[in-house]
Amino acid sequence: MHSRAVFLCLLLVTAPIRAAEPHFDGKSWWATVSVLADDKFAGRNTGSPGERAAQDFVAGQLRALGIRPAGTRGYFQPIDLKSRTIDESRSSIVLIRDGREQPLSLGREAYFSTRIDLAPFIAAPLVFVGYGLKVPEQGYDDYAGLDLKGKIAVTLAGSPAPMSAALGAHYQTAAERWKALKAAGAIGVLALPNPASMDIPWSRMTLSRTQASMALVGAEFNDTPGELFLATFNPEYADLLFAGSGHTFADIAALAKERKPLPRFALPVSLRATARVVSEPVHSNNLVAVIPGRDTKLGAEYVVLSAHLDHLGVGQAINGDSIYNGAMDNASGAAMLLDIARALQQGHAPLKRSVLFVWVTGEEKGLLGSRYFATRPTVPAAKIVADVNTDMFLPIVPLKILTVYGLAESDLGDRVSAVATHLGYAVQADPEPLRNSFVRSDQYSFIKQGIPSLAMKVGFLPGSPEEPLFKQWLTERYHAPSDDLAQPVNLAAAGGFEDVMFALTVAVADEPLRPEWKSDSFFKRFAAAEF
Ligand SMILES: [Zn+2]
Repeated sequence: MHSRAVFLCLLLVTAPIRAAEPHFDGKSWWATVSVLADDKFAGRNTGSPGERAAQDFVAGQLRALGIRPAGTRGYFQPIDLKSRTIDESRSSIVLIRDGREQPLSLGREAYFSTRIDLAPFIAAPLVFVGYGLKVPEQGYDDYAGLDLKGKIAVTLAGSPAPMSAALGAHYQTAAERWKALKAAGAIGVLALPNPASMDIPWSRMTLSRTQASMALVGAEFNDTPGELFLATFNPEYADLLFAGSGHTFADIAALAKERKPLPRFALPVSLRATARVVSEPVHSNNLVAVIPGRDTKLGAEYVVLSAHLDHLGVGQAINGDSIYNGAMDNASGAAMLLDIARALQQGHAPLKRSVLFVWVTGEEKGLLGSRYFATRPTVPAAKIVADVNTDMFLPIVPLKILTVYGLAESDLGDRVSAVATHLGYAVQADPEPLRNSFVRSDQYSFIKQGIPSLAMKVGFLPGSPEEPLFKQWLTERYHAPSDDLAQPVNLAAAGGFEDVMFALTVAVADEPLRPEWKSDSFFKRFAAAEF
């Protein structure tokens, strides 16, 4: 606190222009989080009345501030979705070994994923494909030499060192994995979480399995055509699959923990599944607002700040609480966006470029709202110069260091390093590459359209006293009803994060050159020729 104050005094002397910039103290942020994560919005499930009420609240705030709508219907960009809910009472998964059948207990040993259009009935042999990755630019192929025709691939989450985190994460996405598996003739996936990188324990993962999944309506949004079966298997019971193969799951998991190469082999077991799925139409919206830029030329370009407003809604009760409030995930990011918009609109000179604020829906259902926006933007696509996304930035410890996802991928990383250093904070790349964070939130929808993007969080150094606090937060509160307003937060850390976000927004909007991917970035490939 003290050293920070001294630092700011020095700043005023050396750079008096900074005096005009707002300093956030976290209080306005928490006031908005307190509204969005209130029980009355019932966890803001995609397409629910609670989500709509939360959207109306944000729209009302924007209107009161005089910030312009930039959706297709006022502030809103309507989106058609469909839900899929598994009826477990009429569904089953059976393992067959040496002609003997072993029915699995759904929820304990495995559960269906309704992220795909499950086939009503399927029977197929199983093949363990290791990490299940095909990475042409590294000549890496987990499917080489395996017969996958008509079979179900058993995958273990993770990637082998020294594959970069970004590359490993990209090729583990459902779309990329399925492209390679479909080409190899497979018809489904049985996914084993990696015990070394599971955010939440199986006992909690499994609670959400009968919640509705959702998908964007339209064949162009179907990433998994031809995929007939998708289920998650409990690593604790994985030897039900590996018995008789000459390998134990303990041996394989030990290799995966160290990111070592994995053996790949046909399993002496096959699978039969019956799936009954109920599907219904769902309607939701993205929420879009703009603060126009002042520059005659650059004003036609847009810096996007995005954050998802949806969360998980009402689900299985834990400790008697069934409302999944999503205070950190992601009322925190949604509230931060509103703070930045307010600070820019009130009392800051207009920036050169326009700033587009996008509160997306359907993130928890698979980045659906951001995907819809990034492929059907409400402003000209080629004029979007960057996306800075915020999802669950976790101000639960004092802010000393920011973790930046995509730090080395574009010069947005250099810009955030510069502004953070200026404000007295360090930055680091993702210290936990196995968690795949770069592709796990809405920035990825923009990245796939070629738009330089990043996301950041309050960080910790590996081995620091803060590290176990983050781990504990994930284990106990992530996607649980206890991610609510009763949890401890650090307002100064939230304020410091907002200072960085504000300074980054100003830097990107005012810099004459638009952000660019680094020449050696894997993600540069998505940038269209006209960019
Ligand atoms: Zn989430």
